[in-house]
Amino acid sequence: MRIKPFQNEPLLDFTNPKNLSKQKEALKVVRQKLGKTYELIINGKKIKTDQTFNSYNPSNKDEIIATFYKGTKELADFAVESANKTFQTWKYTPASERANYLFKAAAIARKRRFEINAYMVLEIGKNFAEADADTAEAIDFLDFYGHEMLRYAEKQPITPVAGEKNELVYIPLGVGVVVPPWNFPFAILVGMSSAAIVAGNTVVLKPSSDTPMIGKVFCDIMEEAGLPKGVLNFLPGSGGEVGDTLVGHPKTRFVSFTGSMEVGIHINELAAKVQPEQIWLKRVVAEMGGKDTIIIDSETNIDSAVQGVVASAFGFQGQKCSACSRVVVDKSIYKFFVEKLKTEVDKIEVGVAEENYRMGPVSNATAERNILGYIAIGKKEGKLLCGGEKAAGNGYYIKPTVFTDIKPLTVISQEEIFGPVLAVIKSNNFDDALKIANNTRYGLTGAVYTNNRKKIEKAKKELLIGNLYFNRKCTGAMVGGHPFGGFNMSGTDSKAGGRDYLLLFMQAKLMSEKV
Ligand code: NAP
Ligand code: MG
Repeated sequence: MRIKPFQNEPLLDFTNPKNLSKQKEALKVVRQKLGKTYELIINGKKIKTDQTFNSYNPSNKDEIIATFYKGTKELADFAVESANKTFQTWKYTPASERANYLFKAAAIARKRRFEINAYMVLEIGKNFAEADADTAEAIDFLDFYGHEMLRYAEKQPITPVAGEKNELVYIPLGVGVVVPPWNFPFAILVGMSSAAIVAGNTVVLKPSSDTPMIGKVFCDIMEEAGLPKGVLNFLPGSGGEVGDTLVGHPKTRFVSFTGSMEVGIHINELAAKVQPEQIWLKRVVAEMGGKDTIIIDSETNIDSAVQGVVASAFGFQGQKCSACSRVVVDKSIYKFFVEKLKTEVDKIEVGVAEENYRMGPVSNATAERNILGYIAIGKKEGKLLCGGEKAAGNGYYIKPTVFTDIKPLTVISQEEIFGPVLAVIKSNNFDDALKIANNTRYGLTGAVYTNNRKKIEKAKKELLIGNLYFNRKCTGAMVGGHPFGGFNMSGTDSKAGGRDYLLLFMQAKLMSEKV
């Protein structure tokens, strides 16, 4: 196979009627496949258990997307043991062969793009463009990590030592437990799994209980790409029930987690405990929450700032770790900005994802309850500018909500809400805005709108933010171009989609031979 240099997969334009009708057609086809029951897959074997659980359509909460046999502690144990056996051979597979599985999988995902999008529209309520960006990012991860593995497999530069032939190679770690979230149900799951696999590790993948179907689609793609059985094991089930068994297992070599801060902290603590017969310290890659801020300086184009804030705050219902949940506005333009913001937010329509409304439902009943709880708090802590209640429909619909006059240390300003709720905070000047932006325990994404070069330089120096953008939205990181990961309680700053990422799943071995 000829390997082309990495390039980002272009996004589909759904104002083009051709793309729109292809997407609608794919939704019809996928609808025919809903309601099936799927097994666990361990070492290529399909396994049924005594219990099942359903994945639902959040746009129409009574509709079952698929049913899954539920993983048990015993099977979690078995999956790690089995992955450890497969590792003994997989680790010697040449890097180029491993990379080829990813390139093949990328090609299959390109062909099945509308179908994959359709599963995301139905299982988690993304609109067409959001679903497509998710699929495109997954394709990018496959392609990018394939290339990265080839780079790491090249001769590595070390200083020559007289009388010796020296070489440094990167070898894999072992069994990885991969635990992704539901919010980028394809991109993040694919990126985390494929990085571990291409580096030569075997994987036990526990998909989010909200989006197991999309995890299953990835397993099918890897099977179609010819990945040897046992390299990728699929263990749907409750994180609370099987998570500790997977993380705590003495044969687990590393855990790759993306999700909430609470679960990330728990995994980090449990993984740190050395179990009987465990002969390594487990590595934990944990990418967690955010409380992402956009600063609007007095010297800026307010129209473009409003556009950036609205896209960042309400894209996929605000359920992105990178979503803007606080906007800090200079007092000299505050009133004007708020008026314009209201006009734009009032235009957003909420409805069924399948009908491609700009905003769809939030993920599930618990999320809806939590978000409405924060909205109730917001009503006490500030002024409701728009939204503030459920929207109509048989799903988890919440109106895009904005609170103004929020003080920097309130609950609404400090806690991750993970829904369509935006807090507007007034700043006295640019320095005050920087201080407010740095005042949470998180440090994931953020943006600054200003035309003033000196202020840009100051923000670059002072903001403790993993992905910091200027005069653009704070969501939509591109693989390769915007390596992604945050500081402090946003996680281990793994910089997914960057040149350092694969190192997290490998260890360097130095060999020195006297000549
Ligand atoms: P979550 O509730 O923490 O769940 C994430 C995953 O952890 C799910 O697969 C979940 O399984 C599993 N899990 C739950 N308890 C576990 C345990 N005790 N041991 C092992 N695994 C366990 O997060 P989420 O609601 O899916 O995702 C939203 C969060 O992810 C937000 O905080 C968001 O900011 C963050 N996020 C961060 C990034 C980033 O790059 N920093 C990217 C995307 C999302 P079940 O589904 O079965 O409970
Ligand atoms: Mg669902």
